[in-house]
Order: sequence, then structure tokens, then C-alpha cells
Amino acid sequence: MIFKFFGGAQEVGRSAILLKDEKSIMMDFGIKIDNENKYPIEIPKIDALVLSHSHLDHSGYVPALYFNQHVPTFGTKPTLDLSGLLLDDAINVMKKKRIKPAYYKKQVNLFKNEFVQMEYHEELNFANFNIKLYDAGHISGSSITSIERKEATKNKRVVYTGDFKLSPQTLHKGAEIVKSDVLITESTYESKEHPDREELIKKFIKDINETLESGGTALLPAFAVGRSQELISIIYENNLAENLFIDGMSKAATKIVLSNQRFIRNSDILSNAMQEATWIEDINTRKEATNGPNIILTTAGMLNGGPVLNYIKRLNSKSKIFITGYQVEGTNGYTLINNSYIISDNRKTKITTPFEIYDFSAHSGNADLHRYIKESSPEIVICVHGDKENTMHFAEQLKEEGYEAYAPKVGDIIKLD
Ligand SMILES: [Zn+2]
Ligand SMILES: [Zn+2]
Repeated sequence: MIFKFFGGAQEVGRSAILLKDEKSIMMDFGIKIDNENKYPIEIPKIDALVLSHSHLDHSGYVPALYFNQHVPTFGTKPTLDLSGLLLDDAINVMKKKRIKPAYYKKQVNLFKNEFVQMEYHEELNFANFNIKLYDAGHISGSSITSIERKEATKNKRVVYTGDFKLSPQTLHKGAEIVKSDVLITESTYESKEHPDREELIKKFIKDINETLESGGTALLPAFAVGRSQELISIIYENNLAENLFIDGMSKAATKIVLSNQRFIRNSDILSNAMQEATWIEDINTRKEATNGPNIILTTAGMLNGGPVLNYIKRLNSKSKIFITGYQVEGTNGYTLINNSYIISDNRKTKITTPFEIYDFSAHSGNADLHRYIKESSPEIVICVHGDKENTMHFAEQLKEEGYEAYAPKVGDIIKLD
């Protein structure tokens, strides 16, 4: 059995891992959004793809696999629906920015047509493998993939975590722990512990309330898929939904999440929230949102485009920006935090509105990453989806604990029995 890392190794972004045995299975095929888009190093010939979840760092280059081949993609229904939404949007963004498209609508449609929907725990036979998906607790439909060889052999069960969160969120139970022989784990926050979620929510709500009471707007830039639904639910649970206005792609993403209710818990919270909140459909509701002391939740999460850029320039002096997601270097979110400016319509704009950062991460922190490995009890651990320092440190630590551990870089091959 051979693993080859086409991306997402010693880096976060463009996750793409090929497992080659009797047949070749690609696990994820994403993009890396830096100053410019980066893609997996090659488009190989494969027999199937397993898509862990819809985020573009896992799904963003999947349509490119459909230029010269027709292969099935295995994943959950929300992963199909949400990646469809994000990929369609990615094409529009490429057009708007006049970037040479990485793929066209045709390839996105081929991907959708070849998609094989799986339920969690359903067993799928493919070549000499049994493939099963488990709940990763990250976003709607996110999966931990188990690929098990049918024959009695060494390294029988390969488990790929994708992005996962072991502790529960408002809309998700924690990730399921799956026994493995070879575990490929994400490493994003190997060097970090996330704050206690309850304390974080208290502080967040208090801060929003104070902003509204002073007459300001609470502006929440949020990723459309995952973070938006979690924040909407938290705002509803704290009786603030009547002040909530939702704009941008968060609306469409939330609709999809609600149409796949069995993939979230507390779906009542989210559907009630959506009844009470105001969906911005036109210029008038947009005006209404900015007229009073309201909460505006909108894309883009890293402030690189989307309606958020219009709002941010119109905030009164009492307003505040609530940053709730990771801001990649080179994005407006990053320059706002570090240099107090954003670039919009090719113009540098100074932003004087205060901001606060809240760590609502949907990834496991250090202790949970280690707990997962311990309980999954593999012999071999491969650390991916983390920067060079994190993945290498992680692998070193695991070696000291007695595991055979690797932190491959992009292009590396690992051969196992
Ligand atoms: Zn993700
Ligand atoms: Zn990811």
C-alpha cells in the first residue's frame, strides 16, 4: 500500500492524499487560498475519490479531476450540496477576478453527477476495500473515513480524520473515535488549546450586548459553511435573534444545512433562529440592518469580498467587528487585525472600528488530538493538515510515545505493507 501526498502536507490547504493498493483512492482534493490559489501538485489518474467535507481546502480542486476521467466521489449528502454551492461560487469569483478558471461549470456538474451519497456507518464495497464514513463533528456532513482491506493483512484499516472536533459544538456532537491500524490525522492546532466553549460564548454575548446598547452595530464576518450556522444558533440561544440580519452566502448554506437535518443536532435551534432572524434580500433590508443597533452576520469570513466589505465602511463609531475564524496571511481579515486596513476595489481603506477575536474553532486542540490517537490506537500515525512546525513536532512527540509516526511534505511517498 502506497500513500502519496499531493497537497496539505506540512501545510494547511489543498488537502489531497492518494492511497494506492489494488485501486487508487484519492482522499480530498482541495485548494490553498494564499495571495493566489495553489492546487495539488498533479492531477493523477484515480479510481475513486472520498470527500471528507465541503470546505474548499478539501473540495476546491475536485472538479479538475473530471477533465479527463469519470470517477465516483463518495461522501455525505451535505458534503455534496455544500461543496456544490462553494464550487459554483468559486467559479463566479474566478470570473470576477479575471483569473484563468481552474475548471468550468461542466466539470462541477460531472462531479455532482458521479457523486455517491453515503450515510454515516453505511458500508460500501469498493475493489478490495470496505469504505465507511463516521461523524467528524466539524461541520454538517463532515466525515472521518475508514478504508479497510477485506483480506486478513497487516495495516488492515486506514482511517483519515479529515478536519475533526472531538468536543461537541451547538450543532454537532463530538467526532466519533474509530479504531485504526494506520491513522492519518489533521494537525492544525497541535500547538494550541482552544478556550472553554461556554466561557467563550458568555464573553462573546456580553460583548455583543454592550455594542448594541451603546448604539453600535455588531458586524460578524463569518464563513458561509459551518461557522455561520454555529453563530446563528448561539445568537438565538441567547435571545438576540430578533436583532440578527443575515447576508451573503450564509443564507444559502444555512438552507442546505437545514434541509439535511439528520446531520446536525439541535436542528430546532437553527430552524427557529432562521424564523426569527431577518434574511437580507434587497437594498431596503440592508438599510434597515445598518440603521439600528443590530447584529449583521455576513460573508466573507476573511473579508476577502462579499457584502461584508460594504458594511464595514458604513459602521458608526460605536460599532465593533467580531472576528470568529482563522485569518490567512494576505487576506483582508489578516491586514485588518495586524495593520488596521483592508483592500477593496483596489483601494486601501483604513479601518478604525475596534475588533475582537473569538476562537470558535471547529478543530480539535492539542489534548483532543492526542486523545483521539490514543483511543483509535493505531500503530502508524501520519500527521497532515498543519504547518511544517506543527506536523513535525506532532510526529516527533508521537514517536516518543512509541508510534511509528510521519510528517510527510508535499510530493512525499510512504510505502507500507
Ligand atoms: Zn474544514
Ligand atoms: Zn481543512
